[in-house]
Amino acid sequence: MLGVEPGELGALIRPDSKEGAHFRDTMKGGFTGGDEYQKHFLPRDYLATYYSFDGSPSPEAEMLKFNLECLHKTFGPGGLQGDTLIDIGSGPTIYQVLAACDSFQDITLSDFTDRNREELEKWLKKEPGAYDWTPAVKFACELEGNSGRWEEKEEKLRAVVKRVLKCDVHLGNPLAPAVLPPADCVLTLLAMECACCSLDAYRAALCNLASLLKPGGHLVTTVTLRLSSYMVGKREFSCVALEKEEVEQAVLDAGFDIEQLLHSPQSYSVTNAANNGVCFIVARKKPGP
Ligand code: SAH
Repeated sequence: MLGVEPGELGALIRPDSKEGAHFRDTMKGGFTGGDEYQKHFLPRDYLATYYSFDGSPSPEAEMLKFNLECLHKTFGPGGLQGDTLIDIGSGPTIYQVLAACDSFQDITLSDFTDRNREELEKWLKKEPGAYDWTPAVKFACELEGNSGRWEEKEEKLRAVVKRVLKCDVHLGNPLAPAVLPPADCVLTLLAMECACCSLDAYRAALCNLASLLKPGGHLVTTVTLRLSSYMVGKREFSCVALEKEEVEQAVLDAGFDIEQLLHSPQSYSVTNAANNGVCFIVARKKPGP
């Protein structure tokens, strides 16, 4: 998978991104911004489309496995560890912190919308109707070589998630009004390209995420490439279509050294989200001036 160029995979045309500095205006125009997420992003529709496991193979299940494998390699034995980790744009999902919950003692989940944060709380508090993450948890445990540990793993995760906060990646402090001490790790999967309407907005938002980290702290991120929109139920949400090189340069310009960049042709079902590959990045914030 390493270094695969997805150039031939599809004839997706990168939408015109001339909006540049006018991204705020664009958000009011065609782009689905925060208001649309708050009003129309239904966690159950999102989960049903991208995280339902009926056992049959699907591009969505493969994408989940890809992420769990990358995260296992990153946070597993000999990998990243520390005290605090902040996950940005968690949505209604918890799979992304399964690997990290054994190497960080204090995890913050966050999302823009009330509904997504409620869905997370439901799972954390084992409330009736909480989403069933068992298949993903079992897969994560299999990667660790101990598939029988899944219940213990769920409890461990529930114990180390200390808070679920509102976040907006467009704010200088994305977790405002909360103020957290600088973290050892910031994680963000499949969220920044949805929250940002232009490359400029993406670059600025990455700098906001960098401000949450200690010098020398790590950013771990998966970004879908060349995705201009995706479906959640009957609703279509916009994204900024990014090229691998743009993501890479944005990470470098936000003050990071890239330690790992995995470029894979992994893509969703075209009717759900017509991306063209994905990249997984581990980067380290430069250790001070
Ligand atoms: N990380 C999850 C969810 C991704 S869906 C996963 O891996 O599946 C995209 C998420 O971005 C949604 O939950 C949405 O609420 C969130 N989002 C949208 N705008 C945002 C913003 N301005 N700041 C932070 N999150 C935002």
